[in-house]
Order: sequence, then structure tokens, then C-alpha cells
Amino acid sequence: MIEVANLYKRYGNFVAVKDVSFKINEGEILGFLGPNGAGKSTTMNIITGYLSPTSGKVGVGGFDIIENPNEVKSRIGYLPEQPPLYMDMTVREYLYFIFDLKKINIPRTPHIEEICRLVKIDDVCDRLIKNLSKGYRQRVGIAQALVGNPAVLILDEPTVGLDPKQIIEIRNLIKQLGKTHTVILSSHILSEVQAVCERIIIINKGEIVADGTPEQLADNLSHKDITVRVIGDREEIASAINAVDGVKEISQIKSVEPGSLDFVVEPTDSADIRAELLNTLGKKGFQVLELWCKNMSLEEIYLSLVGEKNSDSENKSECYTDQSEPKCFVKSEENSEDACESDTQEEQ
Ligand code: ADP
Ligand code: MG
Repeated sequence: MIEVANLYKRYGNFVAVKDVSFKINEGEILGFLGPNGAGKSTTMNIITGYLSPTSGKVGVGGFDIIENPNEVKSRIGYLPEQPPLYMDMTVREYLYFIFDLKKINIPRTPHIEEICRLVKIDDVCDRLIKNLSKGYRQRVGIAQALVGNPAVLILDEPTVGLDPKQIIEIRNLIKQLGKTHTVILSSHILSEVQAVCERIIIINKGEIVADGTPEQLADNLSHKDITVRVIGDREEIASAINAVDGVKEISQIKSVEPGSLDFVVEPTDSADIRAELLNTLGKKGFQVLELWCKNMSLEEIYLSLVGEKNSDSENKSECYTDQSEPKCFVKSEENSEDACESDTQEEQ
């Protein structure tokens, strides 16, 4: 239904969208997830034809956005980040106005009435938009996107600024619309896309960093951190662990068992280093009390992908530079400089 290929958007020297490619099948609800400034709105504005790409292609329903913009636009209902509402119109006047703008060849009154029922604004149809709550205004924004029965809905951060009850109502509405539409929903909140979407694309600094169902993301991207509880000298244990093949990074966390030390060991991609780790520590004469693995939650995966790893983790690891100062025990030389800073540097 939607095909985006090698999309770039440059503002002067700044690249807001870098080589973004994805396809969306009919009927999918796709969550476009990324922190503020990631390039979500820019990408959505390009798909809807509001912005032109610097390079790359966008096709909707088989039509190219540059060659057949009207065919593409007639297939898309768009709710921008700032809903384009006229405050001094009533809801009905506004939706009639949008209907007339879109030049649709179906009877107007029953179509608008049907939409108002669907998004549950039929009780406020004759009220001025400026007198509506933010939740109702957002529904009116979704209603204008539905005018003309487009097959695709593109909703840019549709729940921003709503209260928790309104958020749940709008999410449920989007889920319901997803049964009959192809939907792209952007958000900077993981739980939001998890609650609504079947598939998630994570975008960071203009680039796609992950694409899949929540389960696929958790399976594919979760490197299994290993925690090992050992008795012995801290520096010696650290250097023994670092000598194991497939260790990417280690850090020490607070141990709950007096006399022992807990180290969290991050393996390089998909390497299973448990046996080797046990062997090595055993051979060096350390007593290993326990060793366990913890799969990363989707939230931890998301934070690690967008550069805010462990930023608010309860189990935040302590890093030590020597006996007294903070430092990370890092396997590779080239990682050692930025390893300690990675926890804080990119928090926004
Ligand atoms: P998101 O919607 O994910 O928060 P945007 O797509 O709005 O991000 O913006 C992506 C990046 O592009 C941001 O760094 C933003 O400041 C920049 N940007 C957006 N529009 C313009 C513009 N017209 N000129 C220059 N930079 C822009
Ligand atoms: Mg945005």
C-alpha cells in the first residue's frame, strides 16, 4: 500500500531524513517511533505530499507522490502534529468545508454524519471548535482525515497533550480505524505504539534503526546481558572476564550478597558466552556463586537504540575508572573513551 525507498531530506547541510526505506501492507497499523527531532514528521509530511523529498521515492497505492500527487493525496487522510482546525467554525461547518475542499463525489451530509458517529463527535457537531476540549478537537482532526474515505490514515503524534482518559479513547479509536484502514501513527512514546500497533519502525537521527513486530524487535535486538556473581578481587575478575572471547562490555552493579561482586556482561551480537565465562573464571580460581541472563525489555531496547541506554534504569550500573573513581571495564580499546559517557551524553 505504501512504499518508501531511499528517502532523503536535507535542510542545508543538515540531513533530517537519511536513506529511509520501508513498505507497508494494506491493513497494517504501523507505529513510527522515535525521540523528538528523529525525523518522523518530516517523513510523514513527505509521504503525504506536504514536503518534497531531497531524493528518494514514495508510492501510495501504486502511484508516485511526485508524478501523481493528486492520486496519492486522495488515498491519504492526514492528521498533522498541529491539527488544521478553524476555531470559529462549528464542527459541522468545518467538516463540510473540508469535504468541499477535497472535491469528493459522494453525498455530503450522510458521509459527514457517518464520520461523526464513528469518531463519536455527533453530540458536538453544532458547537464551535474553539469551545471543545483538546480530546474532542483531536477527534475532529481525525474526522477531517476520514473525509473522503481514504484507505490510508497518517496520524502524527495524535495523543500529544491529551489527558490519560482521552489518550485511551483516542488509542481505542485508532485501533478501531485500523480494522478498515492502513494506518501510520507516529509517537515518541513506546507504550503508545506497543498498545496500538502491530509493527514498529524505530527512527533515530533520521535513520531507521529497527523494523518489526514488537516480538521480533525483542527477539532480534535483545542481546542477553549476563549477570555473574563472583567472589574475588574486583580488578582481577574484571580482567578475566574481559579476556573471554565475545565480551563486548562489562560493568559492575551493586551486589546484594555480602562478600561477592556482581558484574553485568554484555556479549557481542548473539554470542553465547556463558560456558566460556564460567570456565575462564573457574580456571582462574574465582568462586562463581551465580550466573543468570536477563532479556532486555522492549523499553530497554528502544532506549539503547536511541542512545539513552540505562538512562533511567533502576538497576543502573556503576562504572569505575580505578578503585575509587567511576569507570567502565570495556573490552575493546576503541570503545573505552565513550563508554562511560554513553549513559549521559545523549540524554535529551
Ligand atoms: P520529529 O517529528 O521526529 O520530532 P522532525 O521531522 O520534525 O522530527 O524534525 C527532524 C529534524 O529536522 C529536527 O532536527 C528538526 O529540527 C529538523 N527540521 C525540521 N524542519 C526543518 C526545517 N524546515 N528547517 C531546518 N530543520 C528542520
Ligand atoms: Mg514530529
